[in-house]
Formats: sequence, C-alpha cells, structure tokens
Amino acid sequence: MMLDQIHAARLSGFITELRSGHWLQAQAVLREEDHEGKASYCCLGVASEIAASHGVCTREDDTYYSHDHDPDEDEGEANESDLLWVVYEWYGLRESNPKIKVLCGEIPDQASVTLCETCRRVGDRDVDCNNLVEVCATEANDETGLDFNTIADAFERTYLQPVAGE
Ligand SMILES: [Zn+2]
Repeated sequence: MMLDQIHAARLSGFITELRSGHWLQAQAVLREEDHEGKASYCCLGVASEIAASHGVCTREDDTYYSHDHDPDEDEGEANESDLLWVVYEWYGLRESNPKIKVLCGEIPDQASVTLCETCRRVGDRDVDCNNLVEVCATEANDETGLDFNTIADAFERTYLQPVAGE
C-alpha cells in the first residue's frame, strides 16, 4: 500500500520523531506519566501526540479525543492502546492498530510473535533472517518489545517504500 504525498509526509514526520530519541517508550498504553509527571508513550502514542499537536485530536491527561467526542457515549475517545480513527486517517492508514513488517531476525527469542515460515520449520530463529513478518504496531511495541528505531524502520518499510510489482 502506497500513501499519497500528504499522508506520506505526515507518516514520515512520525517516523523521524520515533528515531529522534526524544520520546520515552511505554508498553500497553498510548501515554502514561510517572510520579514526576514525565510522560512516556507507545509508538501509537507518539503518533497520537503528533496528530494532537496538529489539531487533529485533543488530549486530556493520558487520553486522546476526537473533536466530536461525546462524553456520555465514549464516542470519539481512543481506547488505551489504539489510534483514534481521525488520527489514522490523518496519516492515510486504514486501521487503528496498523500492521507493520518487521524483520524475522529482529524478533527477540522470548517474544510470543510467530517467526517466519522458514525459521518455524527449522524450529529455531536465525538472527540474520531477513524474511518479513507482519505484526500489529502494538504487538511490535508491547509483546515483541521492539525499540522505536526498529519500529520506525518497520513503518517506513511497510508504508513508504514501493513494493516491486505494485
Ligand atoms: Zn525467519
């Protein structure tokens, strides 16, 4: 799937932020604060925060809301770990928890994520394996425990690089 120019520029901005080293990584939540008020984010939390800084959504404490949020109905309110629809559409994505392609060899031993077919058949992970495995962004961030640089590479590979034959 290739994004048009506007969406590609936005996603590219997000990828740059993930690589910037400015963001602390959290698991299983979009955003959380420690007792000193220092915030950390999962990768989709970083995406949400950037969208909020562009007025796409708003944040109150650790929760993101779309502008048509109805407080009585939970409508337009992000759940703990996935993107609001206004946010993923702003990036030109189609899912609240987008799938990204990670390198099989980058998946840590203890991760519950399934390895590529070849490694599975051999019954062992090859750390140099370059086969791609598709995982949800939250799965990459939480269960798999990939850092922001690795996740940034995976977003770039999945959404910004032309695929042969497409
Ligand atoms: Zn493999």
